[in-house]
Amino acid sequence: MSPKIIVYIDMDHTLSDYDAGFRHHQSLHPDLEFPQSMPGMFLDLEPVPGAIEAYLWLNSHPRLDVYILTAPSEMNPHSYSEKRLWVEKHLGMEVVRKLIISPNKGLNRGDFLIDDYICGRGQENFEGKILQFGSDEFPDWQAVIGFFKRLLE
Ligand SMILES: [Mg+2]
Repeated sequence: MSPKIIVYIDMDHTLSDYDAGFRHHQSLHPDLEFPQSMPGMFLDLEPVPGAIEAYLWLNSHPRLDVYILTAPSEMNPHSYSEKRLWVEKHLGMEVVRKLIISPNKGLNRGDFLIDDYICGRGQENFEGKILQFGSDEFPDWQAVIGFFKRLLE
């Protein structure tokens, strides 16, 4: 049996709707320069439409080995624990065990990285293929799932 295909999935703007959460916290704390630093910012983010269903589909495929690979918000210590709690809340403890919080995504070995950024947190050194979430080719999770269905069929 061939080894499993390793897939990494980013969190902010890919699994979780960072922009909506930022606007919400900005409205709650209009005087703060960094409203994203408030407790609850990362935990309260809503999932991007289709993200949970897509994650579960990818995660249940026998040929795929799926991980969450997210960079921390280093100035916000809550981001580390809240990212972990967000994964438990929306995807469960099994997926918590596949959560990787890393400032350098280029250190991870694998085949695919689904991420809205293609550089800045080591993405530029990732040896596999980056599926840029939100790009013309992968505007949403339906497009990502379509890609993997074609790849795996
Ligand atoms: Mg992101």
